[in-house]
Amino acid sequence: MNVFTTAAALHAWSVAQKRDGHTVALVPTMGYLHEGHLSFIREARRHCSKVAVSIFVNPTQFAPNEDYDAYPHKEEDDIALCEAEGADAVFLPQPAEMYPEDASTWVEETVLSKGYCGAQRPIHFRGVCTVVAKLFNIAAPDVAVFGQKDFQQVAVIRRMVRDLNFPIQIIRAPIIRDEDGLAKSSRNTYLSPDARKAALSLSKALFAAKAAVEAGERDAATLEAMIRTTTTAEGWIPDYVNVVDSETLMPLKTVHPGNAAILLACRREGLRLIDNVLL
Ligand code: AMP
Repeated sequence: MNVFTTAAALHAWSVAQKRDGHTVALVPTMGYLHEGHLSFIREARRHCSKVAVSIFVNPTQFAPNEDYDAYPHKEEDDIALCEAEGADAVFLPQPAEMYPEDASTWVEETVLSKGYCGAQRPIHFRGVCTVVAKLFNIAAPDVAVFGQKDFQQVAVIRRMVRDLNFPIQIIRAPIIRDEDGLAKSSRNTYLSPDARKAALSLSKALFAAKAAVEAGERDAATLEAMIRTTTTAEGWIPDYVNVVDSETLMPLKTVHPGNAAILLACRREGLRLIDNVLL
């Protein structure tokens, strides 16, 4: 497995793979890899003959009051995990490699990125779109795999790919959860034992709402209220809970199963978790 730290080296590798008749998939991550990320390497392999994983904690998607400096790292372990999963390349750039000191160009999606997490984190998606566009130019993949866990992120990336004509297929891979239901996240490492236990209320509330829809409930406000009650009882205060159209992310008043999702973000003790479920 190749480990690259420069954009030029990853690009040259990708071009050479394609010249040899391979297809290339990119799995973008911020590292501190868990089973969710590793499942993407396997998913990527189903689509392409070569798989590159990027590991880069992107400074431009964090506001000054967020956890950029505290974000967990374990690069050596991550490289070993990628190798064990059969990745062909890992891209591990330093911030200076990705952002010249006087960088002054941004990629901004202006509709799907504004609500939900974008409302709480106004510069977040501009940073995500900019770094993902750069990774796409550097790695020149045929396919890129993103996680349903960040539901709004995938919608924004798909819109960017469509609007800017990136010749790249975007795969939305399912959420990987701990056995008890909590969506895996690198940030789960911040949870105290109490908060970890109480965090189960997020997935529990989403699954209960999904079951209610399967039993015939169609009113979005009723579902959202159910979820708020369950999470709040465990000390997780919702930033937002919304039944949305799964493509446009527009809030729905009435659920149309097959074309809807419930998105939520909750806070407790300064920590923020997101989760969602497709209906
Ligand atoms: P991150 O390293 O947390 O920025 O995530 C990198 C990619 O992995 C993003 O596309 C996330 O949506 C995805 N991801 C993170 N956690 C999960 C999970 N538990 N299940 C599925 N995808 C995930």
